[in-house]
Order: sequence, then C-alpha cells, then structure tokens
Amino acid sequence: MADWGYIRKVLEQGNVAYCSIKPRYPGSWYEDVLNISQNTGLTVDRIKELNPDVFGAAFPQNDREYTLLVLNSGGDSGGEVPGPGTNPPEEGEWGNFVFDISNNQCPLPSGSYYISQHYGSGGHGGTDMACPNGTSVMAVQDGTVYTVQNWDGVTTSGNMSWGNMIVIQHIDNTGATYYSLYAHNSALQVAVGQQVTKGEQIALSGNSGNVSGSGGGYHLHLEVWSGGYGTGYRVNPENYVPM
Ligand SMILES: [Zn+2]
Repeated sequence: MADWGYIRKVLEQGNVAYCSIKPRYPGSWYEDVLNISQNTGLTVDRIKELNPDVFGAAFPQNDREYTLLVLNSGGDSGGEVPGPGTNPPEEGEWGNFVFDISNNQCPLPSGSYYISQHYGSGGHGGTDMACPNGTSVMAVQDGTVYTVQNWDGVTTSGNMSWGNMIVIQHIDNTGATYYSLYAHNSALQVAVGQQVTKGEQIALSGNSGNVSGSGGGYHLHLEVWSGGYGTGYRVNPENYVPM
C-alpha cells in the first residue's frame, strides 16, 4: 500500500515529480492525480500550485522519472488502467461500436427523467437529468470502468462535489476514446477495470456530493469527455447520447 502520509509530505515539499505520476498514458496521469488527491486530502489545484514546474503547460513525459517515487515508497498509484494519448489503444482493444447518438443509449429509463440543466449553461460541463432517487443508471455504451469515486458523505467541494461517481472509458471502432461520467449517485454497482455493456445498470441515482434544488435535487449529472478524461475536453452529452 502506498504511504499516503509520506506522499503528502513529498507533495507539500513540491517534489511531486517523483511522486507516482505515470505519464505513460496522458489520459491517465490526471486520473492518478485525482487518486493522489483523494488519498492525501490535498486538492488537485493545491497539488498543481505546489508543483508548477510539473503541472505547467509543458507537462514532461518521462516514464522513468515519474514512476520513481512510487517504487521508492513501496506504494502504488492506483489502478492499472488503459488510457488514450501518445500510446493510443491497440487495435485489439478497440470496441465494435460507433460512439454516437444513434448507437449510444440513454443512461436512464425513458419517462423517468427530465433535463433540468443543459450543458454549457453557466459553465456547466454536463447535462443534468432530474429523476427520482434510486433510478437505474445505465452505461451509455460498452466500455471499461475507469474511475469509481466513493463519496465521503460530507465533502461537497473539489472532486467530492461529484459525490458517488463513475467514469467509463469507451474505445470505439476507430480507436477514438471517449469517457462517460455519471455523478451524484446514491449507490455504485461496478468496480474499476470491470467491463460493462451498453445498457448495463452501473449505479442508482441520488443526490450525493454538491447538489442543490428542490425536493432533494436528485439528478444524474452526465458528462462526455473526448480524448482523455481530465486531459481531453468535454463535449455536449446531448450530441452523443439520446435523451
Ligand atoms: Zn450538473
């Protein structure tokens, strides 16, 4: 197990260059920072602020340097997840689907929801789908569970603002990689690395994390990322997922 107290100390000294960052996959290094953030209690922004040389515009790419501390500390840096980027997925990892609105599936049963906030309004990075607590949340397409975040039940800032959250990686039939993100769930039903199929139930909706609104504000916050989760860019879910 990683010695998170030690890693936190290293981070605070600004030596994150030697701390469990694995830039082999640009799509996954940020994920690792999220993992570090959750385990050390330092926010991602704080980690970046403490280590401007590492997290500046020119993020260096050096496997050996960046994995050194992980080995030295006897720790790990989270799941060995495949990612996109300079090492694009090999053909054997490609799915047999097209990731688009005609092939993807709505993450909630029809008739169970209404769109309460669109993508882009007020800087909103996803689409909010208001639905009763405990509604089935389903994978929008075949994929691999990339991130599972368990809410601590208290924190409503930083990553925890998403509450109980799942991110699924979808590599389409051209090797292009997308990620779908499902936030504010009441229960999570999959594990990192698990293969899921389109329409498979992955969670129950809820209002965990930073949620407001009348009647408890129960809703699914759905995001779609193109390229890399955290390193790619968000796209409008309504252009990719029927709803
Ligand atoms: Zn939202």
